[in-house]
Amino acid sequence: MPAQCPHTRPSANTESRMHSRYVHCPQCARPLQPRAHAGSPDVARLSCPDDACGFVHWDNPVPVVAAVVEHEGELILARNKAWAAPFYALITGFLEKTDPSPQEAVAREVKEELDLDATAVNFIGHYRFERQNQIILAYHVPATGVITLGEELADYKRVDPARARYWPVATGLALRDWLRAQGHDPQPFEIPKS
Ligand SMILES: [Zn+2]
Repeated sequence: MPAQCPHTRPSANTESRMHSRYVHCPQCARPLQPRAHAGSPDVARLSCPDDACGFVHWDNPVPVVAAVVEHEGELILARNKAWAAPFYALITGFLEKTDPSPQEAVAREVKEELDLDATAVNFIGHYRFERQNQIILAYHVPATGVITLGEELADYKRVDPARARYWPVATGLALRDWLRAQGHDPQPFEIPKS
């Protein structure tokens, strides 16, 4: 397994990625201070007080791909090992530097996490996930093969699209929009607290 295999990194949904807040400058170790910068004077960004160092934690949103996986006419929702609560969601992942496109990145994630082969990759929409400072690029991915879970996943479940419900946040809104486009009337539920 290569050292940079995505399985060895935190998934797009783990808390560790979400609080990547700097306290000290990663370049010179001085305590960072909030400061506005030219071009966006209304946004205070954690910045190194030493102008010669010049480090700024820009904290821009990170793009994440997500897949509404359809397999043999059913949706495949998966539970990440990092989640304490019994919550099943979309397959997600970060883009790799080597991914030619988000479409290929999402097909790669489906292969890595479920061992399924995408037969198509259809864009659903983009969604803001403010809590984790992400932009979700969501795709419908019909796929074939036999499911084998990757290292990040604890479990999966099959769901009849006509009976699927959605969580009203980020990837859940992508699922809702895809279900509605198929003529369903999905109802929301709250994500269980972990
Ligand atoms: Zn510094």
